[in-house]
This record gives sequence, structure tokens and C-alpha cells, in this order.
Amino acid sequence: MKHHQVIIVGGGLAGLRAALEAVDELDVAVLSQVHPVRSHSIAAQGGINAALANVSDEDSWERHAFDTIKGSDYLADQPAAEILAREAIDRVYESEHWGCPYSRLENGKIAQRPFGGGGFPRTCYASDRTGHALLHTMYERSVLKKVKVYEERMVIELVVEDGTCHGVVALNLVTGELEAYLADAVIFTTGGAGRIYSKSTNAIINTGSGMAVAYRAGVPLKDMEFIQFHPTSLYGTNILMTEGARGEGGYLINSEGERFMEKYAPSAMELAPRDIVARAIQTEIKEGRGFEGEYVHLDLRHLGAEKIMERLPGIREIALDFAGIDPITAPIPIQPAQHYTMGGIDCDVDGVTVVKGFFTAGECACVSAHGANRLGGNSILETIVYGKRAGEAALKYVKGRESGPSRRAVEEALERCTELVEGLRTADGSEDPAAIREEMTKVMFDKVGIFRDAENLKAAIETLVELKERYRNLRLSYRGKRYNLDLARAWELGGMLEVAEVIARGALLREESRGSHARTDFTERDDENWLKHTLAYRTDDGPRFDFKEVIITKYQPQARRY
Ligand SMILES: Cc1cc2nc3c(=O)[nH]c(=O)nc-3n(C[C@H](O)[C@H](O)[C@H](O)COP(=O)(O)OP(=O)(O)OC[C@H]3O[C@@H](n4cnc5c(N)ncnc54)[C@H](O)[C@@H]3O)c2cc1C
Repeated sequence: MKHHQVIIVGGGLAGLRAALEAVDELDVAVLSQVHPVRSHSIAAQGGINAALANVSDEDSWERHAFDTIKGSDYLADQPAAEILAREAIDRVYESEHWGCPYSRLENGKIAQRPFGGGGFPRTCYASDRTGHALLHTMYERSVLKKVKVYEERMVIELVVEDGTCHGVVALNLVTGELEAYLADAVIFTTGGAGRIYSKSTNAIINTGSGMAVAYRAGVPLKDMEFIQFHPTSLYGTNILMTEGARGEGGYLINSEGERFMEKYAPSAMELAPRDIVARAIQTEIKEGRGFEGEYVHLDLRHLGAEKIMERLPGIREIALDFAGIDPITAPIPIQPAQHYTMGGIDCDVDGVTVVKGFFTAGECACVSAHGANRLGGNSILETIVYGKRAGEAALKYVKGRESGPSRRAVEEALERCTELVEGLRTADGSEDPAAIREEMTKVMFDKVGIFRDAENLKAAIETLVELKERYRNLRLSYRGKRYNLDLARAWELGGMLEVAEVIARGALLREESRGSHARTDFTERDDENWLKHTLAYRTDDGPRFDFKEVIITKYQPQARRY
């Protein structure tokens, strides 16, 4: 059995940044379903927020913190948002010193552009391929520092005994064998759950499997009902068209030729926060002012060829390749799609969870810096700010640990998992997992989407319960062991159904509208009853909900206008 002092599950930005924090002193390994640079972080386009004040010297980290809290519809824990904004500056400069090729101003300083919900040009970027630049920077450094990486391993169990974490069990996707890993500390940085929705900008591997594994191990999931829909995904494929396109001055236009954001956010216009812009687009489409009843236009033509080629070359390439449209001469058809999971594994500002020795960071975690709605550019920021902090916390924990992890507990878990996975591989049922997945993703988009109400949510829950039942009766089309992705996808589907149920039930429970959670039957924010986080604990009959106070320090909730 392999043993590492710190095991990090996930090779995206949060995982690699956490690894870099601990690797100088401890034996650190990263387990990932894919090669680290194929993690979804690679796809981040528009940029990363930090109040460097390179463009406007009035910006400050305090303003960044306030914008984040207001953007969150006051559900963010304010100390978490403050840490995010304050530590942003050091983390961005650190990544610059490690070699991240940021775009520059004339004077040589890191360039910054405006993003939604921010008062200033605060978003640092490397053209429109920021995630690519940043992830390669972190990966190169992790090679230099000799972080051990196990690729093509899907972690399916977190081993917890007596409230302490002892390691993980993983399915080796290449051999089909189960493997046990003993660890003094484990950090989950497994990314978002976007693929629970049919229309999503997320990579295929973003299924929330890490969230499901933690949930099954007794760690609560927090605020899962808050799902971000990005306003601008390319119609047809739902590939992201970065908010940077609007940051550079792009317009949103309906079929009547109007810049309709005027009606919804008269001063911020296209740069209102995402929840507001996504709802505006959906409303325009619903009320008959969309094109073909499905999309509106993102118009960049007035920016001119030079600016588009310099600042948004990736967007142009995607529009050309996937829609045959050149944004220099034609508007881009766009529609909202699922984009980000605000909720996640409940943890504090050091990534500490209820299980000793188990930490988390990045999109799979819910420190609650984003509350009910995340601002663009704050997520890759969260991965490196909180990835570092989780790495630091794990390092301290391991150094202070008196006894090693329990080999027996991990061996027992391995046996249990082997039986379950073998059972699934050879199952003799009649249900096709792909069909169940398709029904789940569709019902989530249609009934637990941008606008929600009790009737639709109840119907969605009913469908999910039914699908969970059908899931017990699977039959895989391929039963081999080597590289059996059918098996991996079928396994993670069980977790997706559970996470989907948490999202839908949390959405039904929360009888108010706040941030991304818009109930047409409870249209107002209700601070009296709902200024609180939801915590979902797993039981065999679905989630049991509890609540947690929102930490408010400086900023009392106000009405949110843009
Ligand atoms: C198209 C797109 C563009 C974006 N643009 C921006 C942007 O410009 N600015 C911004 O701030 N944010 C942006 N975001 C959001 C941001 O990119 C993500 O939130 C962030 O990169 C998540 O990083 P992460 O390290 O938490 O997870 P990821 O990068 O998603 O990595 C997750 C890792 O976990 C591994 N993993 C998952 N489950 C398992 C398992 N069970 N076993 C083993 N390994 C597992 C995967 O292999 C992967 O290595 C964008 C997101 C998308 C989808």
C-alpha cells in the first residue's frame, strides 16, 4: 500500500497550489483523474481579480472585498471574502514571479480589465487564456519541486474512522484495479459539479465526484442550491464566451436590436453580476425577444479587429471553429448555461472540515467567499488563495500528528470498495447508465435552473428519486477492466444523483430569492429567515438539512442595485 504524508485529490489550480505549499517539508502526492494540465482550470479565460490598482489607483483590497460581499447577495462569510481580496495581491504577484505570462500595460505593469460587479478594472489576465497560463505556471513549478503525481486515478472513497481521515481508495482507470493510499492528511481539490446540468460550460470530468465522496464520508455539503449560470455560452455547444468580452466593451442585443440590459441594470449594463445578466437574457428569450426563441447576440463588432485579435483571440477562434462566425464581422449567438458551483464541501478559511486531517479548497469547497453569487475572476483567485491556505493547514496538522494513519482502516475500505465496484462492473440489471444521466441533467436544467418554483422543484425531486431507484438496476455495456470508462462514468453517476438531490432539495427548502437562486414564488430576499447557510448531511433517505450562521463583520446587508 502506498503511503504519503499529504495526498491531494485534484490536479487543477487549487490542488497544485496546495501541493506547492507543503512539498518543501513533506512527502506530497497528487491523485487526479486526468493529467493535471487537463483539469478544468486550464479553460479559465477572462482572468483573475486582485486590487493591484494598476489601472485605477483608487482601487483597494477593501473595495474588492465589498464588491465580493455585495455580489454574494450578503451570503458570503465576510472574513472569507476579506481574506480572498487581501491575499489576492500577494498570490497574483507570486504567480507572476513564478513565470505566469500576464498581459501588460504600456508601462509594463500587469494589465487589468473590468469584470462584472467590480467597481474598477481589477481583473488581471493573460489574453483570454488566463487559466492556461496560470495552470502551466503551477504545473511547471510542481515538476521543479518534485510533487509526485498519480494520473488517471479516480478517488471513490475517503477513509474516515473515529472522526479522523486515514487515506483514500482510488480506481486506477488504466488497469481497472482498486488501489489504497494511506495518508496523514488528505486535501480535496476536485472542482465543480457542472455536468449535473445538461447545458454547462464545464469539462466532462466536472461531475462533483469529490463532493459526493466527502458527503458519503459524513462531511456536510454547504449552500448547494446556489448554482451559477453564466450569461454567455455559445449557442449550440455551450462553450464559454468569457465575461472579458463584455469587460472589453461587448454589447448584449435582443432580436429587436435593443441593448436590453438598460432595463435590468441601468448603470452597470452588461457588467452587472452574472446572476442578474443571466436572468435578463432568459427573460428576454422567454418574452419572445430572442432569436429563434433560444438565444440573444453578444456583439463585439464595434470593438474593431485589432482589439478583438489582441484581447480576445481565443473567443474569436472558438466562435469561428464551433459556429462558423467571425466576431469581427458578425454577432455571436449566446445563451446562459450552468457555469459554477458556489456551494461545496463545508470548510473554514483554512480548508478545515469536520473530519480531522481532511481539508478542501477550490471549487469543490465552500469556504463561502462567494455566498449566493460569485463574481467573475474570483474563482481562479479562490483556488490559489485558499489552495495555499489548505496546504499550509495540512502541513501544520501533519507535523503535529502524534500517531500515523490506520493501515487497517484503509485495507478494510479497499475490500469494501472492491466488492462494490466489481458488483457494478458485472451487474446484471437492465438500466443504461447513460440514459439515467441524460434524464438527470435535463431535469436539472429545466426544473432546477435559472428560475425556480415549488411545483417544478418537487417534480424534479420526484424524478431524481426515481432515477436513484433505477440506478440500483444497472447493466454496463462494456464489462472489461482496462480503461473501462463506462464503469467510471456509471460509478460517478451514483454520486451525481445524490449531489443533484441535495441541490434540488436545498432549492425547494430556501423560500426566498438570493443571488443565483431565483424563486418565482418567493421573489424577495428574506434576511429575517434566510440569511443563513444550508448544510446537507447524507442519510440513506436523502439529505438532512441543518443551518449555519453567516458571518457578518463590517457590511450590513443592503438592497443590491447595479
Ligand atoms: C470555461 C470556464 C472558464 C472559466 N473562466 C474563469 C475565469 O476567467 N476566471 C475565474 O476566476 N474563473 C473562471 N472559471 C472558473 C474556474 O476556472 C474554476 O472554478 C477553477 O479553475 C476550479 O479549479 P479547481 O482547482 O478547484 O478544480 P479543477 O481545475 O476543475 O480541477 C479538478 C481536479 O480534480 C480532479 N478530480 C475530480 N474528481 C476526482 C476524483 N474523484 N478523483 C481524482 N481526481 C479527481 C480532476 O482530475 C482535476 O485535476 C472558469 C470555468 C470554466 C468552466
